[in-house]
Amino acid sequence: MSASASPPNNRISETVKKMRRLCQLEVQSGWRYCNADLAVPPVNICNWSVAKLNEKGHIAWPAGKQVLHLGQQLIIPDNLHGYPVAGLRLLLGLTWWAEDAQIFVNGELVGRGDLFDCRDRVLLSSFANPGDEFLVILRLVSPGHDAGALVRSICLYEAADPVCFDPAFVAAELEILQNSIARNSKIINSQYPPTEIVADRSLTVKGEKLQSELDLAVELIDWSALPDREKFDRSLSVLRRCLLGYLRDFFEGFDDRTAEGTEGAEGERREEVFDVGEIGSATSIYIGEFGKQTSASGNFDDRTAEGTEGAEGERREEVFDVGEIGSAKSIYIGEFGELTSIYMGKIYLLGHAHLDLAWLWPIEETWEAAQRTFESVLQLQAEFPELIFGHSTPALYDWIEEHRPDLFAAIKKQVDAGRWEVVGGMWVEPDLNLISGESMVRQVFFGQRYAKEKFGKLMRVAWLPDTFGFGWQLPQILRQGGVDYFVTQKLRWNDTTEFPYDAFLWEGLDGSQIFSMMSAPIGEGIESVKLASYVFDWQVKTGLQAAFWLPGVGDHGGGPTRDMLEVAKRWELSPFFPKLEFAKAIDYLSAIEGMFLRPAAATAGNLGSIEGDNLPAFSESLSKIDVSESDKSGNLPVAETRVT
Ligand SMILES: [Zn+2]
Repeated sequence: MSASASPPNNRISETVKKMRRLCQLEVQSGWRYCNADLAVPPVNICNWSVAKLNEKGHIAWPAGKQVLHLGQQLIIPDNLHGYPVAGLRLLLGLTWWAEDAQIFVNGELVGRGDLFDCRDRVLLSSFANPGDEFLVILRLVSPGHDAGALVRSICLYEAADPVCFDPAFVAAELEILQNSIARNSKIINSQYPPTEIVADRSLTVKGEKLQSELDLAVELIDWSALPDREKFDRSLSVLRRCLLGYLRDFFEGFDDRTAEGTEGAEGERREEVFDVGEIGSATSIYIGEFGKQTSASGNFDDRTAEGTEGAEGERREEVFDVGEIGSAKSIYIGEFGELTSIYMGKIYLLGHAHLDLAWLWPIEETWEAAQRTFESVLQLQAEFPELIFGHSTPALYDWIEEHRPDLFAAIKKQVDAGRWEVVGGMWVEPDLNLISGESMVRQVFFGQRYAKEKFGKLMRVAWLPDTFGFGWQLPQILRQGGVDYFVTQKLRWNDTTEFPYDAFLWEGLDGSQIFSMMSAPIGEGIESVKLASYVFDWQVKTGLQAAFWLPGVGDHGGGPTRDMLEVAKRWELSPFFPKLEFAKAIDYLSAIEGMFLRPAAATAGNLGSIEGDNLPAFSESLSKIDVSESDKSGNLPVAETRVT
């Protein structure tokens, strides 16, 4: 998926980079190495040689389960490019390609991972003191089949209180905003927006105005304030406030046009917009809805609100002076009172942990990984009650039920409470290329029988994120087995024949139709810029405002991590980020299906024909995409072997 729709704006990009440098420091070139397999982490690495980076900036070592130790003495500086770091919290972000990774800080094991759980953010200090030292040792084992690599290492200084912002956080907000403006022009060419909006070129013009306002607004950042951190942060606060004002102006005009036909007062209209699940026909543009609460003078911090009624020039002048008034140690991310998000779009989250029953490890390890994953989820749910987790594979639940009845009972409790979703539709997530039609039927039969017996209801979502090949008879088999939705992300695995739809009706050989979704990629975390880009692309491709994301380490179990949940909580406060909410797949799918379908059809019986109003239909094997429909090069054979 491409991250940008138009050439990046240089001024914004430069500002974003510059701001990140104030609290992020690459330390990849600071590692020393030792090839010996040490029994205990060393306390001194002075005689180790400096590790060289390859052309990709990685530290690589040979394949074949070779052990490499890397060590680095990190010393907290006084400042980064003039921004004092004292009192911030310090994390070390690491990404590796290693079969086993252990992270030691000052002799203590603080983290570990593997090929699938391949990144971590280790908390080194919750209150940075300049001069404090940390000896970090990594014990890495290369995969048997591939060279190992330390891909990235970076020190991240964040606001000590996670509900407060720091320059890197605001930089990400700016980047997201920049990307969303780029999507503005792209969405006009999308196939879904109502024609009246497509035809309205003034929207583009206003988008250009917003872009120039954004370019201008970044000059509010008071670089001369450094090393006065409070004063500098205050100027970031002023920038954010200013941006909200511009966005409000932008959407006031837009709202006037789209409000046509939506009778009633402002409050009612807003309610209507949100009630539509953020997907309504009036919402084909993705930023918006400031409503009453976003008045530039109404909700901001008292210390900065004075004088904001004035003209633009006055406001900017006032804004530059604000630094002197600022006294707060750090500034709350959600400092704008009731305002929740400038985006209509919402991101629904479902915790996920892809786990193949058999792949690169012995079957015993599958059971172990499942237990570890499920226990971790239950533990996190105790601390993060909002977390909803979804998992497939009745065969796994069956094993847990037999061998870990205590764990099974705890899972069942969460299922009953609506915080754990049993998806799948089949006994396992099977290969679907090699097995016969009867085998598929049995997959559905045994899977559904187990789900009904143990959890009281059928699985309505076929959850096959990593399955290769989807035969044309599947819609019929799934629908007749009580499955109403089909979800995969595997068709993304194609750099040549791109599957054209993200939400569509898949029609089987016999005419059975199943509402289908190309889900977000699996094995992802909560990285704000990446996540927002996914949402913008989803909106352009489907016309749906609400997107669905699957945070969680995967491919060998794992699931959502504490860090992911904490990061999500932080971004939840930002008005420059879409709202986040955990939801079950079945609820999300039925909501978006309802947006596409005619009311009469939506109430049709289970196997009744669905009439999609504006939903693309696909009548073929998903492993047999007609190249004439989607392949740009135009002369490739049917892409069966590519997808399968
Ligand atoms: Zn897999």
